[in-house]
Amino acid sequence: MNSKHRDGHRDITPPIHLSSTHEVTWQEAQRVAEGDEAIPFYQRYGNPTVRAVEDQLLSLCAPPDDAENYAALLTSSGMAAISTALLALLRSGDEIVATDPIYGGTSKLMREMLPRWGITTRFVPCDLRDAEGSITPQTKLLWVESPANPINRIVPFDVAVALAKRHNLISCVDATFAPPPLQSPLSYGFDLEMHAATKYIGGHSDLLAGALVGRRDLMSRIRATHRSLGATLDPHAAWLLGRGLLTLGVRMRQINESAGRVAAWLQAQPGIERVHYAGLESHPDAALARSQMPGGFGGIVAFDLKERSSQAAERLVAGLRLIRHAPSLGGTESLVSYPPLSSHSGQSDAQLAAAGFTRGTLRLAIGLDAAQDLEKDLESALRHL
Ligand code: PLP
Repeated sequence: MNSKHRDGHRDITPPIHLSSTHEVTWQEAQRVAEGDEAIPFYQRYGNPTVRAVEDQLLSLCAPPDDAENYAALLTSSGMAAISTALLALLRSGDEIVATDPIYGGTSKLMREMLPRWGITTRFVPCDLRDAEGSITPQTKLLWVESPANPINRIVPFDVAVALAKRHNLISCVDATFAPPPLQSPLSYGFDLEMHAATKYIGGHSDLLAGALVGRRDLMSRIRATHRSLGATLDPHAAWLLGRGLLTLGVRMRQINESAGRVAAWLQAQPGIERVHYAGLESHPDAALARSQMPGGFGGIVAFDLKERSSQAAERLVAGLRLIRHAPSLGGTESLVSYPPLSSHSGQSDAQLAAAGFTRGTLRLAIGLDAAQDLEKDLESALRHL
């Protein structure tokens, strides 16, 4: 989907193809049966609107000098992308090594659901220290998330890829918090890059979608499984996603700038104990983030209140006017969420502490609001804590 779109009507913007099925010649039906994925046939197998956006995404994520060896797939949510990829690439008896902290939904899938199909996960710290010790002959896949939710821990991509290569593992990264142009995991040698496209890629809090971009051979296996599992992205949502992609670069520039400013400002406020933003020198992964994220550090700013309690967090949220209390991130509006009641609900104090935050930690997802308006809102809420 781009300005070069041609369909005879001289449209500048592309149409939405809604048809659930496509008329084909006998020969075309035979080619589809033989595995030709380029012929429009049935919407669960592929759709022209969805395919056009997959191409857009591919051009943003694939290493530019090797793009023909990569392919992209859109799914109906971020979790659909993760579950489809894992079910496509693994079988009963296989093991995953995954970094921790990690998105709560991914954690639940790995800890509670996949074991039912005989797939187990060993979790390792996000700096991959001692990760080698968790790899067994059954380990088939390394799953990392960087930056990691909610405290922006950064996984060293070169270490992850080298580890995966040494042990013949498929390497996958959930890069939702830092979409292009912030970082380029596939250029480091990752086999698969995943995004909850619901977030920055969609960019307007009006759709759910998942995206996978990876080595062509792996993506063929994933696409085949996707057809059977059926977590297909609706063409309307794909069209909105394509429109969101057109402004991704400018939105991310603005978001980076506001988030960096708000993070530095928050750090100087008396009610705040600590700010978790990889663009701050005080963040444990600041140097790594600088080298690995040339396009900036994104819009997630987590912070610990000095008063480490859910009551203090609730009072702060109640005092905010511009920043609204909602889960998710990546839209134009700025949101605040409380991880123990959203991404990390149901986790014990010990689990929260292991993930690096407290009962007084809140997560801001900075949108396109002006930094000074955000600071004013936070200042007023902090004053009435
Ligand atoms: N991965 C990360 C890092 C996320 O933050 C989320 C959702 O918040 C997901 C995956 C799942 O995406 P979705 O909600 O679109 O299924």
